[in-house]
Amino acid sequence: MDQPPPHEECTNCGLITVNSGLCRRCVTLPQCPVCKRRLPSNAFDTVPGNCQACDRKNRKKLQKTRHAIDNIVAEVNLPTDDTDITYERFITRNALNILEVMDEHIKMKK
Ligand SMILES: [Zn+2]
Ligand SMILES: [Zn+2]
Repeated sequence: MDQPPPHEECTNCGLITVNSGLCRRCVTLPQCPVCKRRLPSNAFDTVPGNCQACDRKNRKKLQKTRHAIDNIVAEVNLPTDDTDITYERFITRNALNILEVMDEHIKMKK
């Protein structure tokens, strides 16, 4: 009975390889430092660098942070009343509120 030749699976693409670890194709590919995958160079914007999938994830994270900040600002409510005939009067009346809110945000950042 013939024994199949010893082999291992490529840790990157799962192909059967006679080398241990990576197959001959994957060993030449650039590796993404974030997800550790070896990908064809067209999956990277820059080599060496993150792959496009990881870049996209990074960008999403940045956008989420922006939204969070927007939400905090949007949550601040300044009440208006009948004496707010002009924008200036409204601002003057709420100046203390606005300063307090700004103060809190500055403290939060520290
Ligand atoms: Zn491979
Ligand atoms: Zn990646």
